[in-house]
Amino acid sequence: MDTSPPMDDASQPLAAAWLHTLQHTGPAATALLHAVATDAPAPLAQRFYDVLLVDARARRFLSHEQVKQRLQPAMQRWLVQLLTTTAGDIAATVAAQRIIGDVHARVGIPVDLVTRGARVLKHDLYGRLQARADHADTAFEAIRTASALVDIAMEGMTLAYTHARDRSTRADAAYRLFSLVQNVGTERERQRALLLDWENTLLYTLAGHAEGENASLATSEFGLWFTHKGIPSFGESSETAQVSALVKAIDACLQQASDDAPAQRLAALPAIRERLAAIRTLMTLLFERIGELDAGSDSLTHLLNRRFLPTVLRREIELATRNQTPFALLMLDLDHFKAINDGHGHDAGDRALQHVAGLLGQLTRGSDYLFRFGGEEFVVVLVAASQSQAALIAESLRRQIAQAPVMLGNGTSLALTTSIGVAGHDGHPDYERLLARADAAMYAAKRRGRNCVVVAEEGLPEAPGRRSARAL
Ligand code: GH3
Ligand code: MG
Ligand code: MG
Repeated sequence: MDTSPPMDDASQPLAAAWLHTLQHTGPAATALLHAVATDAPAPLAQRFYDVLLVDARARRFLSHEQVKQRLQPAMQRWLVQLLTTTAGDIAATVAAQRIIGDVHARVGIPVDLVTRGARVLKHDLYGRLQARADHADTAFEAIRTASALVDIAMEGMTLAYTHARDRSTRADAAYRLFSLVQNVGTERERQRALLLDWENTLLYTLAGHAEGENASLATSEFGLWFTHKGIPSFGESSETAQVSALVKAIDACLQQASDDAPAQRLAALPAIRERLAAIRTLMTLLFERIGELDAGSDSLTHLLNRRFLPTVLRREIELATRNQTPFALLMLDLDHFKAINDGHGHDAGDRALQHVAGLLGQLTRGSDYLFRFGGEEFVVVLVAASQSQAALIAESLRRQIAQAPVMLGNGTSLALTTSIGVAGHDGHPDYERLLARADAAMYAAKRRGRNCVVVAEEGLPEAPGRRSARAL
């Protein structure tokens, strides 16, 4: 049975290149590569460090104790996988390279540092292959193969890195714009009106009632807004691409009609209006989607949407590292929330979520960030707070939530409790690590009986089935 992970289109050429390389490596060279792999070249990570730590940018990522401890065995495993992958494991190996690229992107490791690392590694590896080979020909063949495999691995990492950076750049830009666009409702009405105005003017022009030289939709007020603010605000999607294509098609229609005699121009109208209607439908959809986010916030609780968490955490980690200031993260999960939904209905559950969100707003500073992380889970980013200060804040939040029951419409009051995990930023560059520590602490609070606060510490087990993203 084939247990290899499914491969997407982007991985196919990498896997094919890998297979091709293996098929063109003879048994002696293959044996040599395996022999060097089983040597488990321990000093390799040390060499890697010596070269990279000269760079101040690399120090930011590599000087954390935990990264240091993990990197050496991780690099050894990576190298062994690289040199010993057989035809059957290629899919898994290629997938692993893409995960590494994702981690690099999340942490923000510059690509040139990764390629510099690869260069150091290759140099070391070639020396080892040469020293261990019986024949110069075997050494050459093994070196050629090793070089190709390192390159394919880099290609996989870079592919994932570029995609991930593109995604986060779009999220960052959307976040900035959302914080600028104060009122999505007003914007929606304004754009709807602009589009209607344009259509009306066009009607007059085509009917020959007015001179309409420059009627292009792309350069109309709506068209300009859509290109410059709309696309970055909505985030690129198939719908934004469709709107752009429709705008282009309408302008092409107009261009053609302008060559026609005035009497025939009106004939172009039905096709144009049909496309305008399609644009309106798409715009409604796009605005609805932002509406759900309510300028970046979750529509039920009005807290920040989870998709902006990476943007905020990356920036906080950068600030903390640069200024040597602390910050901390709380992971809150309401206790026995299912029972509230089951016993009092989903609306009561929603009311309870709004109530807790309101309390969090009242009990934290304006400079802190409040996120709805999931259904009944919240993340609080406490800026300029150490782990011990955060623990005190968490304890106070827990107490006040427990003491303030939510009042339901029918007059019943409902007590709520929360389990809270606390994790202070410990210098680690990967925000997933910080989230995982807070999550593990929250999970520990659940196991200790709920309605309590647990501070992250070494050795807390990960919440089962929770964090799928692999942290650095
Ligand atoms: P635990 O103490 O272990 O956290 O128990 P729990 O019941 O809170 O945990 P679980 O994660 O199993 O259930 C969470 C429930 O929250 C499941 C889902 O029905 C409910 N939920 C998620 N999102 C919403 C929402 O937007 N509104 C309402 N009313 N309920 C929601
Ligand atoms: Mg939960
Ligand atoms: Mg819960």
